[in-house]
Amino acid sequence: MRKRLECAGRRRTRARQRGHVDQVGGDDGGRYSGRFPSRLNIHRAEFAAAVDAAHEGDARVMVHTWGGDSIDWAIEAGATSIEHGIYMTSSQATRAHDAGMTLVPTLTIYRYVREMVVAGKLGGVPLARIADVVAVHEESRSPRQEAGLPLAVGSDFSTPEQHGKNLVEIGSLMRAGLTSAEALLAATRNGATLLNDPDGA
Ligand SMILES: [Zn+2]
Repeated sequence: MRKRLECAGRRRTRARQRGHVDQVGGDDGGRYSGRFPSRLNIHRAEFAAAVDAAHEGDARVMVHTWGGDSIDWAIEAGATSIEHGIYMTSSQATRAHDAGMTLVPTLTIYRYVREMVVAGKLGGVPLARIADVVAVHEESRSPRQEAGLPLAVGSDFSTPEQHGKNLVEIGSLMRAGLTSAEALLAATRNGATLLNDPDGA
């Protein structure tokens, strides 16, 4: 495992120099029931192959997942970041930190989704399910920070009305417990570093 992570680390360094990021979907939890996803739309071997292929092309990989095995596989494979990470465990947070990864929470979009469900504008998503996601996502900030995992601002917005509201996520991070300084760093330095643009140029 260590050797694999070291190899992945070297590939990440090369890829950072090119600045490319690919996206891999792990657990799109919206289609699942239960506390965290029980089925995956991509499996371990496919996951490793996808990340290896990206690295061969000097690209880095961001993994959208709510939790479960795909976070372990993202860490093993040498992915660069986890998006959402709602049900990421403390152990996974520690290992992600040790692998040099970044966590990109997306707090605001799930509040918007909850509002859409309440307003009857979005079918197929149980209100209890999305309410749990909103609550756990905001509560989970502390263990991630204790693990030292860098946080960067995300969005995952999908509708024209949602796009352009990225600044709202800074307030969402503060509501979840980040200090104003931590939230601003997530919106600036940490995101820029993740995108291979540490100077924000
Ligand atoms: Zn996503």
